[in-house]
Amino acid sequence: MSIPQTFIQDLLARVDIVDVVGKHVQLKKGGANFVGLCPFHNEKSPSFSVSPTKQFFHCFGCGKTGNAVGFLMEHAGMHFVEAVKDLAQSYGLVVPETDFSPEDRVKALENQKKQLSIVDLLETASLSYRKNLKDSPKAINYLKQRGLSGEVAKLFGLGYALDEWTGLAHVFEHYNSADLVEAGLVIENKEDPAQEKRYDRFRDRIIFPIRNIKGECIGFGGRVMGNGTPKYLNSPETPVFSKGKELYGLFEARQHLKEKGHAIVTEGYMDVVALAQLGVPNAVATLGTACTPDHIAKLFRFTDTIVFSFDGDQAGRRAAKKALEVSLPFAKDTRSLKFLFLPPEHDPDSYIREMGVDAFSRLVSSSTPLSQFLLDIARSGCDLSTAEGRSLLAAQALPLWSALPQGVLQTQLLNEIADLVHIGHFELKQLWSDSINPRSNTTNPSPFNKKKSKQAPWMTKDPADSSPRRVPIRQAPMSRQDRGIQILFQHMSQWAAISSEQQNILCRLPAPHGLAFTWLDLQLNELGVLSWPQLKELTPPQEWSQWLSALVENTPLEAEEGNGELKNILFELEKADISEKLNQMAPLVGSDPQVYKQFKSLSARFALLKSTPLV
Ligand SMILES: [Zn+2]
Repeated sequence: MSIPQTFIQDLLARVDIVDVVGKHVQLKKGGANFVGLCPFHNEKSPSFSVSPTKQFFHCFGCGKTGNAVGFLMEHAGMHFVEAVKDLAQSYGLVVPETDFSPEDRVKALENQKKQLSIVDLLETASLSYRKNLKDSPKAINYLKQRGLSGEVAKLFGLGYALDEWTGLAHVFEHYNSADLVEAGLVIENKEDPAQEKRYDRFRDRIIFPIRNIKGECIGFGGRVMGNGTPKYLNSPETPVFSKGKELYGLFEARQHLKEKGHAIVTEGYMDVVALAQLGVPNAVATLGTACTPDHIAKLFRFTDTIVFSFDGDQAGRRAAKKALEVSLPFAKDTRSLKFLFLPPEHDPDSYIREMGVDAFSRLVSSSTPLSQFLLDIARSGCDLSTAEGRSLLAAQALPLWSALPQGVLQTQLLNEIADLVHIGHFELKQLWSDSINPRSNTTNPSPFNKKKSKQAPWMTKDPADSSPRRVPIRQAPMSRQDRGIQILFQHMSQWAAISSEQQNILCRLPAPHGLAFTWLDLQLNELGVLSWPQLKELTPPQEWSQWLSALVENTPLEAEEGNGELKNILFELEKADISEKLNQMAPLVGSDPQVYKQFKSLSARFALLKSTPLV
């Protein structure tokens, strides 16, 4: 483990578990200990006890027990490293990491301070929005009309932004402070000097505070009450808020996710609040974006089953297809992803009001499993009574299927697709592994043909392997992909340093490399730069964790090692990537001017790469 044990001990010595738990559970002094209602199971009389002397919590009802770090992990769904960082932050400490320079540390401390001060501003604003709501009959009436009770409004901290250009000037002493702009509360208009220079972002809107998993306010969503536009307005990206990572309602729903056994992902914050009001407290929403891998990874920390809910119209189908593509790498055998399509005229709110909660629950439990939806998408537009239609199905299924993690589900789907296509599943697998890893072929001397990549050890041995191979005579020590894994998993900061196009090329590599890089990217977004032992601690998916460890630990690297080599690897992989694209396009170039244009520009890039000497 890479956070030094001494640091954790120091930290635990400073932390008082009564404070840590007390932020989330109302505690009363009872003898030597503190007691309260257990946050991990439903109870009416307290059986949850916190010991200040032992610095432990224990529930006599459900048996949960642990220290302050354990409490945060369990209660807020944090990883170990996150929980340690979070605790350290609230005590003004920075977790020492092996590859942290003193400058990095100062920077990290400054970032932390900045984030804390922005959260403070947002909390203050949130409080004033809530107060405004109490004083605004217009806003209260609107919420009542939407069928929301005062109770649910309080639970979600709903508020109202005044119909004033500078309403927040009543709240903040320094309305001109740059921090208010950075927090996304105030907009600065520099272009038009005739207009007011600064004004509130949210005006005359119902305010939905967006909370992180600790319950801190990190941004707002605002909805108009009438027919104004835009209907929904969110906080911009700030140092504490990124819409691609946060889910609305997760903080409020997190306990219910465990009880209900699944999360429902809806399209808007009004859905989440309305569902909670109607007895479905386990819903969350994305914030005006399509679902991202970060969203899904976050939800899977709280539940093993995700149900995406979509409106039944064309836009809903498109959004569902996108969600499917993002979900595929997460579809491990122990998890379940489902797709719920409402009748075209309904959103979740209107459906429950008309049909009742039970009907909605039935809809949830009969929603389409990922495997079924994958087949539906693959089959769309295919006439299965013709050989051409069946081939098209196979072509459409391949990219979806190959994004699935190795496992029983993937194998079953291969069999089902093979049945639909009317060929043996063994043949299909062979065809597909050829198109995923195109091998050089003597009958086709195209300059773009890529050499067959080295067989990954996790793949079952392909019988075609016994055929004479013309690739390596000299035993190459390691493929580029393998070497890339070694370098980037030991020096994660280099992952952050390469371009997003380069990251995409690596993430698109066939399994397991592509999956490993995708996973690495997730960890970077979620936790920042980590050392290899920390990454290992986070237990990558088990299908390839052994393969990964063996590969990375095979060749330990020094700090600066691998820099130039990585450049060369990326360079070669980009060439291979382009050559594969060119190969795929070649048959279509004559018939489609759009393809021709793309083909030409890719060819030019390819020629340039070929003529550039290696570093
Ligand atoms: Zn309990």
